[in-house]
Amino acid sequence: MLKLPITKIVIILLVSAAVGACSVYQKYGFGRIVGSKLEYGVSTEVRMPANAPSISQRYMPLWGPSDGKPVRNQARKEHKGVDLLVPMKTPVIAGDAGEVVRVELSFMFGRQVMVNHGKTDQGFRIQTRYFHLTEAVVEEGDSVSRGQILGYSGASGLASGGLPHLHFEVHRLNQAIQPIAVKVLDPQLFWVDGVGLITCFDKTREFQKASVKLTYPVPCRDVAWQ
Ligand SMILES: [Zn+2]
Repeated sequence: MLKLPITKIVIILLVSAAVGACSVYQKYGFGRIVGSKLEYGVSTEVRMPANAPSISQRYMPLWGPSDGKPVRNQARKEHKGVDLLVPMKTPVIAGDAGEVVRVELSFMFGRQVMVNHGKTDQGFRIQTRYFHLTEAVVEEGDSVSRGQILGYSGASGLASGGLPHLHFEVHRLNQAIQPIAVKVLDPQLFWVDGVGLITCFDKTREFQKASVKLTYPVPCRDVAWQ
């Protein structure tokens, strides 16, 4: 049930106008994980490259696996992806090769693109989702390569809080292989360089194509990506 009082909508709009993209970008910049770090999700250190746009919020499942059993997290707040603090109209790039299966505009989550990929080492298929875009430049049915521009970041949808950022999610498509009650997974599990090792897309680098491994869904500074 969704009830948003008009005052809240007005506040979001005012905050949006007051904060602006640039101040956020300068405040957070690159190479940082702002806010809480290891209270939830994958309990691993995250290596944040110094040239990667900062993360403002990490993945936090309402229920998380612990020793194979689902356990409700203490904070009781759910965040199904990671938030990358990037200014308006930052290129949003595919985390791996795949097929665009959906491009839509929703009231809460704004303009979003969903891409289906191949299988992981564990044998399940994954889908990545990119939220709050200001524009999508791909269409359903398009094949995309790793690092290809899917659209441009923004603050569309109420769930953005009026703050420009990219909300990035990883979904497991095959429930049968890993019967744990979590379908939306921590993106930190899927980087090319390993768990927690955020990996910038670099067009000069040779990436293995054997299984799905992700690169950061926005370009890193001073890296050839286009
Ligand atoms: Zn988010």
